[in-house]
Amino acid sequence: MSVANSHLVVITKFVAARENNPRAALFALKATAAELLPGNRIGICYHHRLPDVETVNLWYTPEGKKAYYRGLMKCGQGWLCPVCAQKLSEIRRKALRTAIDNTRETYLPIMVTYTVQHHKGQPLSELLQGMNSAYRRMRMQRLWRMLKEEYLIVGETRAIEITHNENGWHPHFHVVVWMDLSILDAIRAEDGSFDLPWLAASMAEHFTPIWIESLAKFGLSANKGPGLKVSTTDDLLNDYITKGGVVLPADDKKWSMAEEMTKGAQKKAHRDGKTAWDLLLEYFAGMAESGALFQEYAVATKGKSALQFTPGLKDKLGLILDEESELIAEEIARDEILLAQIDITLWRKIVETQAIGELLDVASKGDTELLERAIVVIERRFERKVVYIQ
Ligand SMILES: [Zn+2]
Repeated sequence: MSVANSHLVVITKFVAARENNPRAALFALKATAAELLPGNRIGICYHHRLPDVETVNLWYTPEGKKAYYRGLMKCGQGWLCPVCAQKLSEIRRKALRTAIDNTRETYLPIMVTYTVQHHKGQPLSELLQGMNSAYRRMRMQRLWRMLKEEYLIVGETRAIEITHNENGWHPHFHVVVWMDLSILDAIRAEDGSFDLPWLAASMAEHFTPIWIESLAKFGLSANKGPGLKVSTTDDLLNDYITKGGVVLPADDKKWSMAEEMTKGAQKKAHRDGKTAWDLLLEYFAGMAESGALFQEYAVATKGKSALQFTPGLKDKLGLILDEESELIAEEIARDEILLAQIDITLWRKIVETQAIGELLDVASKGDTELLERAIVVIERRFERKVVYIQ
C-alpha cells in the first residue's frame, strides 16, 4: 500500500467511526490539536476539574438522548479546540437566528463575502493582517460612509473563515450587512416583489472597487469578480457563521475532507479548501505537513476575534450575547439523570486512556450497565497502558 493510500484508509475509517461515535471522534481531534500545541490551555480543556469540584458528574437526558459532563474546565478557544468550537458554533448560530427573527420587521440582512488573492507559501498571519488592515481602512473612507448612508446600513457582523487549498491559505470575511428595511422601497418591482438580485449586484459594483483599492494599500489584491460576493438568501445567513474554519460545520454534516476522501469530490474540496479540522484529521492520519499548517494557523489566529459586531449593533438586534459565559455555563436539561459520579482516580484513568469522548458516546445510550462495562474496559486499558484513539 502506498503512503498516500494508508493516510486515506485512516481518514476513511475515522470518518466512518464518527457515525457511531461522534464524541469519541471529536475528542480524538482535540487530543490531536493538544499534541500539536504543547503548553496551550487546550491541554486542560475537559481534563481538569473546576476548582472545588470533587467528582466529575456524568449526566444524561433521555429526551435529548445525550450525555454530558459537569465540573470540568473548558478552554473556550473557538479557533483551536474542536470541542469548544462546536459549542461556540451552536451559540453563534442561535444568536444569529434570534437576531434575524427579532428584526424581521425592521432590518434586511445581506451577506457580503470579502476575499483576497493568495498563493501557496504565503504566510497566513501576513494575509490575515493585510486583510484586517484593508477592511479597517476601507470603512474609514468617505466613499464608504456615503455608501453606508445610501444603502441604509445600520451595522455589520463580521465572521472570519480560514481554509487551506492547493493555492495556500484562503482567509475570507463573511460580513452580514444589516440594512434598514425601508431599503426595500427602493427595489420594489412593478409587480410588487422586491428585486434582491439587483440590490446584490448594485452593492457588489459599488463596494468591490473600495475593497480592491484598500487591499492594494497593504500589498494585496483581489479579483474583480470573486473579490466580493453579495448574497441575499436566508439559508446562507443561517449557515455563514457555523461553516468553515471558525467552527465545526452545522449539524456535523459537512466535512470537506470527508467528502473529498470518501466521495472523490476532489474538485469541490479543492475549491472550498480544507478547514482547520480537516488539517487535524490529516495530521491524525500521519500527514506531518498538515500538522505544521495547523500550528501556523494557531499562531496566526491568536487574539483574533472570530465574530465581531459593529458598536451598538447587538442592542439594535436585541441580542444579549456573552459567548464566554454561555460557553462555560454547564449544560442542564429538564429531564436529566445523573448516570455516574466519577472520582479523581477514575477520572485520571479516563483522561490518560483518552476515553473522555468515548465514554460520552456510551453514556448517550442511557444504559448504566453499558456504562459500567465501558468503565471496566477503561480500567483494564489503563493497567496495560493502552491508549485507544478510536
Ligand atoms: Zn476547549
